[in-house]
Amino acid sequence: DRSHTWAKVDRYLERKLLMPDAALEEALSANEVAGLPNYDVSPLQGKLLHLLIRMSRAKRVLEIGTLGGYSAIWIARALPQEGKLTTLELDPRHAEVARTNLRHAAIPDEQVEIRVGDARMQLARLEDEGTEAFDFIFIDADKPSNPAYLEAALRLSKPGTVILADNVVRGGEVIEESSADARVQGIREFFERLEGDQRIESTALQTVGIKGYDGFMMGIVR
Ligand code: SAM
Repeated sequence: DRSHTWAKVDRYLERKLLMPDAALEEALSANEVAGLPNYDVSPLQGKLLHLLIRMSRAKRVLEIGTLGGYSAIWIARALPQEGKLTTLELDPRHAEVARTNLRHAAIPDEQVEIRVGDARMQLARLEDEGTEAFDFIFIDADKPSNPAYLEAALRLSKPGTVILADNVVRGGEVIEESSADARVQGIREFFERLEGDQRIESTALQTVGIKGYDGFMMGIVR
């Protein structure tokens, strides 16, 4: 069936375009051993994040939703020496696994700050602290909160900041107006806010692969 082909093509592209990487593979195994859900980005998507950060020469990156740090490793490796990733995670167990995975990937401690707690609270705290605007923001946590994360991301941005949000198509369910799924409604509200928002210029792409049928939104702050 289709999803079988999507997975096979992902594996083919991985073999052609990605270098074997023990730290990333071990991070996924450590996540599994620790019983974390496998909601990480796929290897090819991780590389896309990595490339986008390098292409945009981002130095200050914010991630909402750390899980076991798989995407954080891809992001941290795209940063210049003086660059920094701040990543937000609700579950202290996830954050602990992420810390270990980042250490095993030889990411310097000072390059990644994992902030544990509800992301809305952490985002408000970052604002209160008068944190310097981020260059790149990756939204990948609980989907019902996406509208709130978008607002916070815009407040923590400056002209040129890239905002990327994952899982915005959800197998096509995003078009189900009366969906009972709070995640779908969160994404719909997220797009309603983007509609006509003068602060950001955005697009979205549908994707298929080992993670099934989904998609991401990407925009640049005016
Ligand atoms: N970016 C990760 C990667 O690709 O490796 C995957 C993140 S996973 C899709 C979503 C994460 O968001 C989970 O670890 C979950 O515990 C976390 N999360 C859920 N609700 C949250 C909240 N309110 N605040 C912060 N993190 C939250």
